[in-house]
Amino acid sequence: MSKFLNDNLKGLEAYTPGEQPRDKKYIKLNTNESPYPPSPEVVEAVSASEVVDLRLYSDPLCKILKEKLAIRYGVNYENVFVSNGSDESLNFYFMAFCSKEKSVVFPEISYGFYKVFAELYGISYETIPLKADFSIDVSDYIGINKNIVIANPNAPTGLALSLPDIEEIVKSNPENIVLIDEAYVDFGAESAVSLTKKYDNLLVVQTFSKSRSLAGARLGYAIGNAEIIADLEKIKYSTNPYNINRLTLVAGAAAIDSDSYFADNCKRIMETREYTEKELTKLGFYCIPSCSNFIFAKRDTISGEDLYLKLKEKGVLVRHFSTPSICEFNRITIGTQEEMETFIEKVKECLV
Ligand code: PMP
Repeated sequence: MSKFLNDNLKGLEAYTPGEQPRDKKYIKLNTNESPYPPSPEVVEAVSASEVVDLRLYSDPLCKILKEKLAIRYGVNYENVFVSNGSDESLNFYFMAFCSKEKSVVFPEISYGFYKVFAELYGISYETIPLKADFSIDVSDYIGINKNIVIANPNAPTGLALSLPDIEEIVKSNPENIVLIDEAYVDFGAESAVSLTKKYDNLLVVQTFSKSRSLAGARLGYAIGNAEIIADLEKIKYSTNPYNINRLTLVAGAAAIDSDSYFADNCKRIMETREYTEKELTKLGFYCIPSCSNFIFAKRDTISGEDLYLKLKEKGVLVRHFSTPSICEFNRITIGTQEEMETFIEKVKECLV
């Protein structure tokens, strides 16, 4: 830390992303990427001529992409915001709508970035414990008169709330914005996008990083009422007007056009998830039932950290969190069927 860093940032604990190792080739099951490549249409869209055009700035309006997203989700152009990864939509939400006076709540066990944004901006925040089975207690969020952020499905548990539950939360907090982070929604949960037409205090955030195989392109979006979206645009134009680069813009537009390709991948990933869950259960693991592209699992006779380290030595990377209430678990991203068969073999080796 330099002596120049602002005092208010000295104690800030930054977000720790999952390992992206370059030392050797791992079966990489640690950061919830898709095991499948982007669609052929996406590969074609990122053409040589688009690369040549990198000398020109990208479209700050992101028109082609917003139009396609609006059609895809049955909303208007003015209801769509696109961002550099969904992390940027989350960042702008905290920046625009939360403060010391306007507090925000989120589950105690959830995506680690929420807390980082809250601390970065000096926002008052409160974390709400999960129930013993790691599910969210909906009643904790009814009529609390605070901003609310919920990942649905939640991470790293993989558990999802139903649409009526989300609606109850949104309806009972009309003076605050409820953000539903749907990074993993395409793997078995119900999206709340339809509710954005009924409630003006709901913002739904999604990403191209998981179900659409574009984690490295950094593309996310938020859908909500036009006034909230205009506020997010204001923040964007006050920080980084060209937040989506040219290659990502065309890749994202092509990805929307190949919706069925990605839907097939999601189906395959969900089938491989069922296989993996069954095999882990046979090996004595407890798996939280997942609606995501990962499984959160533990086994009594081996610590979470031990298993993580042993698997790493064998060339398989999973995600381990040292937070005490979940440190016995590992979060295992669903890879290809073949990768998961190898994973199961390696787990067996770790247990002897
Ligand atoms: N929300 C959740 C719950 C996540 O797990 C992630 C992935 N780390 C993100 C948002 C951010 O994803 P991205 O910025 O790649 O869209």
